[in-house]
Amino acid sequence: MNTINTDVAIIGAGSAGLSAYRAAKAAGASAILIEGGAHGTTCARVGCMPSKLLIAAADAAYHATHAGAFGVHIDGAVRIDGREVMARVKRERDRFVGFVVAGVDAMPDADKLSGYARFIDDSVLMVGEHTKVHAKSVVIATGSSAVMPAMYRALGDRAIINDDVFAWDDLPKRVAVIGAGVIGLELGQALARLGVRVSVLGARGRVGPLSDPDIRDYAQRVFSEAFHFEPRAQVQAATREGDEVRLRYVSGAGDVIEDTFDYVLVAAGRKPNIGGLGLKDTSLQLDDDGLPVYDPLTLQAGAHPVFVAGDANGVLPLLHEAADEGRAAGTNAARYPHVAPVERRAPIAIAFTDPGIAMVGARHADLMPESFVTGEVSFEDQGRSRVMLRNRGLMHVYADRASRRFVGAEWIGPDAEHIAHLLAWALQMKLTVDDMLRMPFYHPVVEEGLRTALRDAAVKLA
Ligand SMILES: Cc1cc2nc3c(=O)[nH]c(=O)nc-3n(C[C@H](O)[C@H](O)[C@H](O)COP(=O)(O)OP(=O)(O)OC[C@H]3O[C@@H](n4cnc5c(N)ncnc54)[C@H](O)[C@@H]3O)c2cc1C
Repeated sequence: MNTINTDVAIIGAGSAGLSAYRAAKAAGASAILIEGGAHGTTCARVGCMPSKLLIAAADAAYHATHAGAFGVHIDGAVRIDGREVMARVKRERDRFVGFVVAGVDAMPDADKLSGYARFIDDSVLMVGEHTKVHAKSVVIATGSSAVMPAMYRALGDRAIINDDVFAWDDLPKRVAVIGAGVIGLELGQALARLGVRVSVLGARGRVGPLSDPDIRDYAQRVFSEAFHFEPRAQVQAATREGDEVRLRYVSGAGDVIEDTFDYVLVAAGRKPNIGGLGLKDTSLQLDDDGLPVYDPLTLQAGAHPVFVAGDANGVLPLLHEAADEGRAAGTNAARYPHVAPVERRAPIAIAFTDPGIAMVGARHADLMPESFVTGEVSFEDQGRSRVMLRNRGLMHVYADRASRRFVGAEWIGPDAEHIAHLLAWALQMKLTVDDMLRMPFYHPVVEEGLRTALRDAAVKLA
């Protein structure tokens, strides 16, 4: 049994853990980075990057088959080679993973440990069965995993999660996607565009992260035209028949539908990886889900020198938030007991669907009903969007009645990922709707649609 003493032990070498390690070292502490699984991060291996690679292939297929309206005809069939699609996804994914792994390889060997870590007591970790780590402070950065409801577990290897999609050598023919959150919609639409027969089955009427009912209804219509989409399906039975899965569900309209698929892709939420951490063997206060009760400002668990960062804390499961939280947790762990709040950026969330979904600032559902006005634009007649035949979308921007400040937006529409950044920057700079309307808008651009929504808000504020 080896024994190591360190200032900071970081459990998990994902995006949060890596930035915690760098921050702890930059603050002058000694640090040990502990990884139980494969290096490379969830984002690069099975998350952000391979999903965007699959979407890029899907978009290429879509545009190749939808150029006719411009008078551009592809005479002859457009052929999607599933093997080539997946080969590129994996090749490029491996390249991104390679950069992360190279960074880990460059770290001093003495700073890295392989094996799953668990607490033996408040300040001692057991890594695998080989090393005891005595740490003055600990950062829990263990990430999250897809939830697999019991009814799908019995399907064996026919019930899959996002990780499995990116291990495919070829595209299957029929996939049921369970869950209409961001991951379900992104992967569902991408597979549909690549010629897979897809049914996306949500349960509670969700459409990605949207909380504004008008935008959600609009998005539901758009996706229902693009693939088989049932946001309110109740799956009654999932049965394996050979290498197929038979699903029986009640649709939103009350019809009982039976259908057969090659795979059920479960994208029904994620939960923090805390089960194996032995937290019950510490004096940390745990909530009903077994997660340490922690201060969302400093990420500190109670008065203990333990910090929870990234997907592990279950709050903002996004890459840039994981990196920011990791940095703050690493710094706080190194400087404990002198801890400082995480510097939060303006909230921004994007679903890389087509049209894209984006949310900035306060969610519609969290705003006090009388406190704000809603500026609206439809992208259906928006000049540049129509030029490009991408004129599907509806945007709501919210402005505070008292201060005239822009406070949030939810929408589906063209170029949403870019407009989301303009809006997040405006929010962080605390701009009013009037300030934003004084900014330049070129012509003809999709952002002119945003200007229409802001003008609408300004009129309603008058
Ligand atoms: C399909 C998909 C698409 C996504 N797309 C986007 C996107 O477009 N944009 C975006 O911002 N976000 C996206 N995300 C979310 C983003 O990937 C995560 O928020 C981010 O990767 C979380 O980083 P993390 O460091 O918290 O966790 P991870 O990167 O998962 O790191 C946690 C690490 O801890 C290790 N670990 C766990 N338990 C232990 C233990 N006991 N001991 C030692 N090691 C342990 C794990 O092996 C893992 O390597 C996506 C996620 C998925 C699944």
